Amino acid sequence: MDLALSKEDRAFAERMRGFFTTEIPAELRQRLARGEHATRDDVVNTQRTLNEHGLAVPHWPVEWGGQDWTSLQRHLWAEEMTLAHVPQPIVFNTAMVGPVIATFGSQELKERFLPKTASAEIWWSQGFSEPNAGSDLASLKTTAVRDGDDYIVNGQKTWTTLAQYGDWIFCLVRTDPSAQKQRGISFLLIDMRSPGVTVRPIHLIDGGYEVNEVFFEDVRVPADQLVGEENKGWTYAKFLLGNERTSNAGVGMIKNRISRIKRLAGPLLDEPLFRARLTRLEVATTALEVSVLRVLAREASLPPGMPDPVSSVLKLRGSELQQAATELLVDVLGPAALPYRESGDVPDGFAPLPEGARDAMPTYFNWRKASIYAGSNEVQRQIIAKAILKF
Ligand SMILES: Cc1cc2nc3c(=O)[nH]c(=O)nc-3n(C[C@H](O)[C@H](O)[C@H](O)COP(=O)(O)OP(=O)(O)OC[C@H]3O[C@@H](n4cnc5c(N)ncnc54)[C@H](O)[C@@H]3O)c2cc1C
Repeated sequence: MDLALSKEDRAFAERMRGFFTTEIPAELRQRLARGEHATRDDVVNTQRTLNEHGLAVPHWPVEWGGQDWTSLQRHLWAEEMTLAHVPQPIVFNTAMVGPVIATFGSQELKERFLPKTASAEIWWSQGFSEPNAGSDLASLKTTAVRDGDDYIVNGQKTWTTLAQYGDWIFCLVRTDPSAQKQRGISFLLIDMRSPGVTVRPIHLIDGGYEVNEVFFEDVRVPADQLVGEENKGWTYAKFLLGNERTSNAGVGMIKNRISRIKRLAGPLLDEPLFRARLTRLEVATTALEVSVLRVLAREASLPPGMPDPVSSVLKLRGSELQQAATELLVDVLGPAALPYRESGDVPDGFAPLPEGARDAMPTYFNWRKASIYAGSNEVQRQIIAKAILKF
């Protein structure tokens, strides 16, 4: 297997880099390079620009704005975007609900939702997890009961990322409580401005606000907002999750963090123990990158939407290295990483904070999430044990 990039693929990557570094404002990319977070407007405006140039949803069908690219080119697009510190398109739109509607939705749903989903006119939230249904998602209890032309939805979702920005939410709901648990689930699109929808923030240890609880109380949802067939939602959910074969590795993100560590390390770079730690992280990141390329190289031989169990290895290792990089950055900054909640205050006797120092500790805390979301690392280990090691 040849894992080196061909001349064409190198040229493709350069074309992407050229676009991202000229068409997306430098001021925004510099802010993100310093470790700051993109605002809602940053994300929406960037996605609009990308979409105007056919670069927001390249993995969608061509008739809905996709590109006829290889999976390696899609990977290079995502990596170059990350390395250029461009805010990512809204993942719930582009990687989750969009492909589901494009594959299983009616023509009417496609026309109604896909263009606005690609252009970020609609911000989607993901309503899958519930207080007692996370790893065991099929235990979900939110119900949708048919009433004439509507469903009446009751229940609660949790950990709903950025639901405070959400215009619409795609939900897994139970439509047949008598069926075996995976069989009674449907995939429903709900306008978050509907009466009976309440969004409540969950405040996190990093001081930020990115997840929510979402409550549904007798919410009336037109039945034509059901995707595909009633009680087939589990199939669509598996397709949605199966589309994320390699993206959770986060190689570009780890490389960006390593670059910041190097920029901030100063004389530490000459210290052998530190250098060894940094080098181990870099070598492991290169190994991860090669593994991503191996998965991409065999992707063409798998049916569309079928999860490759090796993607569990990428998610597991990727999240470990993402976390290791946040930890190393905090260690490099030492006490300068501590006053993160203060508005620029520096403890007595310390020099002014280095670039991006204030974000290092919140990012360290925040990134504990990487081993929980998108299937916890324990669950990934079980998949690896069963599907790869055949235990
Ligand atoms: C920051 C963040 C953002 C999220 N955003 C969203 C979102 O937008 N939309 C959404 O629907 N969900 C979202 N989630 C939810 C996420 O998918 C769940 O947290 C995840 O699936 C784990 O479920 P849980 O939290 O209920 O933990 P549980 O499933 O209760 O797990 C608790 C612990 O038990 C372990 N465990 C569970 N089952 C097994 C098993 N069979 N074998 C071994 N160990 C096991 C887990 O690994 C974990 O350590 C988000 C989560 C986080 C942290």
